[in-house]
Amino acid sequence: MVRFIFVAGGVMSGIGKGVAVASIAKILKGKGFKVTAVKIDPYINVDAGTMNPIEHGEVFVTEDGDECDQDIGNYERFLDENIYRTNYITTGRVYQAVINRERNLEYEGRCVEVVPDIPNEVISRIQKAAYSQRNWDGSSESKIRNRAQRSAADFVLIEIGGTVGEYQNMLFLEAARMMRLQRPKNVLFILVSYLPIPSTMAGEMKTKPTQTAVRALNTAGIQPDIILARASVPLDEPRKRKISTFCSVLKEDVISAPDVKTIYEIPINFEKENLGNRILKKFNVRPKKNDLKDWRKLISRINRIKQTIKIGIVGKYFETGAFTLQDSYISVIEAIKHAAWFSNRNPEISWLSAENYEENPSNLKELNNFDAIIVPGGFGKRGVEGKIKTIEYCRNQKIPFLGLCYGLQLAVVEFARNVCGLKDAASTEFSPNTPYPVIDVMLEQQSLLKEKKYGGTMRLGAYKCKLKKGTRSWLAYGKQDIISERHRHRYEVNNDFREKLEKEGMIMAGVNPERNLVEIIELPHHPFFVATQFHPEFKSRPLTPHPLFREFIKAAIKK
Ligand code: GLN
Repeated sequence: MVRFIFVAGGVMSGIGKGVAVASIAKILKGKGFKVTAVKIDPYINVDAGTMNPIEHGEVFVTEDGDECDQDIGNYERFLDENIYRTNYITTGRVYQAVINRERNLEYEGRCVEVVPDIPNEVISRIQKAAYSQRNWDGSSESKIRNRAQRSAADFVLIEIGGTVGEYQNMLFLEAARMMRLQRPKNVLFILVSYLPIPSTMAGEMKTKPTQTAVRALNTAGIQPDIILARASVPLDEPRKRKISTFCSVLKEDVISAPDVKTIYEIPINFEKENLGNRILKKFNVRPKKNDLKDWRKLISRINRIKQTIKIGIVGKYFETGAFTLQDSYISVIEAIKHAAWFSNRNPEISWLSAENYEENPSNLKELNNFDAIIVPGGFGKRGVEGKIKTIEYCRNQKIPFLGLCYGLQLAVVEFARNVCGLKDAASTEFSPNTPYPVIDVMLEQQSLLKEKKYGGTMRLGAYKCKLKKGTRSWLAYGKQDIISERHRHRYEVNNDFREKLEKEGMIMAGVNPERNLVEIIELPHHPFFVATQFHPEFKSRPLTPHPLFREFIKAAIKK
């Protein structure tokens, strides 16, 4: 029997709802259940792929090539399982499906209405997600259906994006309400709320916004069963009592969720409040086991780490007015953390503006203050020359360097210009008339671009890569011949220039076997100079850091 747990947010956004969902999923998995998680984003965009990272944060990519919300990345990292396309729902997807069905006469002539047809589509998607987790292995549809029936999740967590009370997510709350009506014993509601401590009010923690959020949820016909009370510090007894009385939840179901040093501590904090068993009790289920052992070990190891390692990320998606946004590169940051912790270091990550190096190349000297540098993924012209200068500096000064996607492409451009002597070599993405298009748009992408078919059309998701024996990458991956990694790009290394690049010393350490596309480059005689066309960061997990990040950090420590 599948059980559904809806998680909505109150008071304001950005209070860690996604991490809370991931943590609950982790706890339930630790109690011996099959768990999956679904993210609902209320925007009209069909997926996150068409949004600027500064608007939306990182675009996370799944094995099956969905361009989705970064919370899916959190679910994967906490659950240590892959999440697939089925588990990402947007208003755009829901309406698109309903409209397509209407056009195909599948509603058999009746009037198609916002309610109940939209919530019904949401419900059917949530139900499907219960079966998705174990489906993905490329087997045929019919086979999948049979096997899927045998392998449904025990629990599906559904994170409803946005904040209760706003117009945007109303239809999703409506779907949740309808599901509860259909199966009252198998649906649970959790509200993640926020308790501010205004400094002007003698530092007292305020519960009123939470009360208001619960009222807003009540007007949608939903009463929360559990309230996760986010705040900078733990909740005290009077506050718990107050929320309990005014919001009609038992005191034991008001869970204190204070700020933490690392997000991976959250499942353990929730367990201190007995959250897992409270949830199971409401479903009348007993835990099968109690196992967060490895996780607890990791946390206590992290808390003992004394030494730090300084990593610079040279990018452009982190300035927003007076604030620095880290969300655009969240998987990169998490991958650095996993790898650093593995080597008993606390990472100290700095944001370095590529454009700054364009305007003031003399500032490149500051790169020497770091143990290693990453040039992450990106798009377009802005900041490109600064990134190329960064790469040149790292190559010459022997600073450990890891390039991710655009990072690989720009490393090839830099090498072509400064080592192969191909003046003005470039990628046709930012210099369409370059005499040396060492990075060029993939053939099948050209017509897509011409027809303005931008959404969901990049080379996306998992593809194989054959590693060259004896290379740094081959050793890092434990001498595997074939690996698989996730992609999101339109451009590639132009094979016409491969021989020239190799002749001058660039090593093509990984190549896609089906299409002969360069996937990894390395430079010899350098402490660490590796760049990948794929995004290794998406597959790094707290307990199993990604091999390339792991080796990159080791090189950084040596420096
Ligand atoms: N802009 C480059 C491309 O489309 C790289 C994309 C990326 O870094 N994800 O190929």
